[in-house]
Amino acid sequence: MKPPESTIGPMPISLSAEGPVMSRPPVGAAATHCPYCALQCGMYVVDGEVTPRTDIPANAGGLCQKGWTAAELLDSPERLTSPLLRGSPVSWDEALDFVAARIRAIQAKHGPDGVAVFGGGGLTNEKAYQLGKFARVALRTSQIDYNGRFCMSSAAAAANRAFGMDRGLPFPITDIGAADAVMLAGANVAETMPPFVRHLTAMRANGGRLIVVDPRLTRTAKLADLHLRVTPGTDLALALGLLHIAIADGYGDEGYLAERTSGFDEVRTSVSAWWPERAERVTGVPVAQMREAVRILGRASRAMILTGRGAEQHAKGTDTVTAFINLALTLGLPGRQGSGYGCVTGQGNGQGGREHGQKADQLPGYRKIGDPAARAHVAAVWGVSPADLPGPGRSAYELLDALGTPRGPKALLLFGSNPVISAPDATRVAERLASLDLLVVSDFVLSETAAMADVVFPTTQWAEEEGTMTNLEGRVLLRRQAVPPPSGVRSDLSILYGIADRLGCGEKFPTDPRAVFEELRRASEGGTADYSGITYERIAAETGVFWPCPAVEPGEEPHPGTPRPFLDRFATPGGRARLVPVEHRPAAEEIDGDYPFYLTTGRVLAHYQSGAQTRRIRPLTQASPEVFVELHPDLAERLEITPGDRVRVLSRRGAAEGVARVNGTIRPDTVFMPFHWDGANRLTNPALDPVSRMPEFKVCAVNLERVA
Ligand code: SF4
Repeated sequence: MKPPESTIGPMPISLSAEGPVMSRPPVGAAATHCPYCALQCGMYVVDGEVTPRTDIPANAGGLCQKGWTAAELLDSPERLTSPLLRGSPVSWDEALDFVAARIRAIQAKHGPDGVAVFGGGGLTNEKAYQLGKFARVALRTSQIDYNGRFCMSSAAAAANRAFGMDRGLPFPITDIGAADAVMLAGANVAETMPPFVRHLTAMRANGGRLIVVDPRLTRTAKLADLHLRVTPGTDLALALGLLHIAIADGYGDEGYLAERTSGFDEVRTSVSAWWPERAERVTGVPVAQMREAVRILGRASRAMILTGRGAEQHAKGTDTVTAFINLALTLGLPGRQGSGYGCVTGQGNGQGGREHGQKADQLPGYRKIGDPAARAHVAAVWGVSPADLPGPGRSAYELLDALGTPRGPKALLLFGSNPVISAPDATRVAERLASLDLLVVSDFVLSETAAMADVVFPTTQWAEEEGTMTNLEGRVLLRRQAVPPPSGVRSDLSILYGIADRLGCGEKFPTDPRAVFEELRRASEGGTADYSGITYERIAAETGVFWPCPAVEPGEEPHPGTPRPFLDRFATPGGRARLVPVEHRPAAEEIDGDYPFYLTTGRVLAHYQSGAQTRRIRPLTQASPEVFVELHPDLAERLEITPGDRVRVLSRRGAAEGVARVNGTIRPDTVFMPFHWDGANRLTNPALDPVSRMPEFKVCAVNLERVA
């Protein structure tokens, strides 16, 4: 079935997918989910084509352009179907033997941490779990992290600090449609996950108001009742200014603050100096607009504050999210039916991928690897001694930056990620990868990172495999196999088994996703992200189950899952949410005479993450063929740049080129580049947030010039 025109054209909201709505599955269809973003839209796959499902509330019959065309990659001629050893096809045994022998040799010389593992936020829960176990049990290395560190880690750190739990949206997505006011800070959902917009549209149709915080007049900002056009890197100051106004204008919910929170007095003192005029000077947002935003949120019966990467991908991202959470708590929103704070998670399994052990400091169930009780529990499930489990390792950028250095890992096994495009200061990252003694990449196409690898394992894609994904609501969903994989391709679980077996512990690494999920259930039992009461059968019958969902004793009613975990208490030891004082600070790199403009980066509708998949799908490359540089007409005139010119953008780390797009939707001091192509991340700043270790993707200082 061809996508309807409205889903593939350049216009924004209509492509949210008012495509053909199926009330019943097509004959022979597999009910599964889109391979891309965290909305995890439900879809059927039949005869190699997709149609949307109506039973999944996140999309309820809608898909975006990426979802409609997702099946095109399944039989792409660019598909890898044989392992590659230094670029030449070899047998699976030859490739696996080579990798295992190199791992043994490198670890014999450099110790267990001589080999590192890098995962991805798009991997199923089963793969993410198995990857964490593989690193700690088969390799006994502490050196594992994943690209989700570049995505939601600041929101996760702030939510853990405030609520004792990080679940992207701690309420069903349909609650948004029933709200009276929503503030979206740094989330361009109309471009990144269009079917999300239907929930905002429903909210506005019911009389609700939408506030968008963004330096650009994005497709989402165009929908807003109020657009706060903040200077890049100053969202934290904006949140402080809003909180100052909320307190001064009497919108603080004193009863709620006294009953359900701690720390308000310190926060009130800390924002007392953030006069609206000061906030206006720092952020560029007029005082009147700030007051209006607070008035909308403060007067709403049900209000939500949601953050996205625009507010989070900064060297102060954790504090920025904390400031928005402080505002939400002061207004009495989190833990109230129909209100709350949430993070709009980005990657396909961005939520589940951060729960089950592929993070440097984590064990399954959102447990801390440094916690003795957590180590004992997980070690018992894995059949090893707690003493044999390594401790925490390096965070994602620190790990990539250490590769091949005297004290860093000499080998990297990489699954579901393309850091040559997606990591900050990408030129430096490519140099580090090139310096390794061994680079192994598992992918289904020859991504830019795979092209550098000593060994490439060709792996299965979404529709060729089974597994679970956890969407941005914390709803655990079932990915079903719709088509057989091509001959010569294996699943990541099979690849992990193949290496582990050669290292002498294959029996600990089942290849059946159901068997892995059964083990994951036990490993997560009693943890924050408790999946022990969830089964594949329940997910299928209930169109998803919200975690936490603990197992019950035989004969008891199953736990129903937890759509709204904070209604009665927060997950902190005392049950209260914590307000934490935070202070604004400038971007890690401010503009100056040499680099006089801000660069901000982000996504476009037609592409996903590093573009390794979507840049190989014809309708998507036709819709969005190349990297561009968006700039304001005033700036273009000053620099004698006209639309369509090639523009070179320079930062302290490198240079990149793109085609000029000139429009008035961006601030005159700011340029925008999408990061799906080689380019934008050659420029970005790897300065890290001290808590989350999130790099500062969203702002750096650049200069630009027309290419002769
Ligand atoms: Fe839905 Fe995201 Fe897939 Fe688009 S990319 S169809 S919004 S899951």
